[in-house]
Amino acid sequence: MKILIVEDEEKLARFVELELMHEGYETAKAFDGRTGLEMAETGEFDLVLLDIMLPELSGTEVLRRLRKKSDIPVILLTARDSVMDKVSGLDSGADDYITKPFSIEELLARIRAALRKKSVHSSSAQVLGTGLLSLDAAAHTVTYDGKEIVLTNKEFGLLKKLLENKSIVLSRETLLEDVWGFDYKGETNIVDVYIRYIRSKIDDVFGVKIIQTVRGVGYVIRD
Ligand code: CA
Repeated sequence: MKILIVEDEEKLARFVELELMHEGYETAKAFDGRTGLEMAETGEFDLVLLDIMLPELSGTEVLRRLRKKSDIPVILLTARDSVMDKVSGLDSGADDYITKPFSIEELLARIRAALRKKSVHSSSAQVLGTGLLSLDAAAHTVTYDGKEIVLTNKEFGLLKKLLENKSIVLSRETLLEDVWGFDYKGETNIVDVYIRYIRSKIDDVFGVKIIQTVRGVGYVIRD
């Protein structure tokens, strides 16, 4: 999932970027409306965080122009108490807005909600699962019995890979190569560490055993 941050307060943009990266999102920044619009129109982003008060082009104007070509989810960043901004922003096709100063938890929740909403509308939505566990690849969300489980990008990738290959035992090497890429070749213990992370977030919480260890071979999810 790749998120574009259009925000002229560079410190705020950088702070948001670091938090998003920490959550496993890919990010890019633009510091003025014109650049932000150009980047948003490339189609390489899954969501845009858009400040309203921007140099060159206002956020509202960026949104108005963007909506002629794209239905990418947009969350507006508005100044405190500017009700008019919110109203005109939502009228111009924003999916949501968040008022500054905001907590990063709230922002992350809004982002997940906007991405989830998008996936519901997307015909290519791919939902994988086993038992009560459900993974929505497009929305990048995982739920167990309807309860959201927050995974990092790598944890998500690992779980997705195993769900895509249900009943097939995947070796650590295969998982490492597919989820981490070639840079990590050889360091297969990373896989074990991340399997433990996933288990601590799902198995330990819900008292289930989703991922089976096949001794000396690798990991598998069976129905
Ligand atoms: Ca601003």
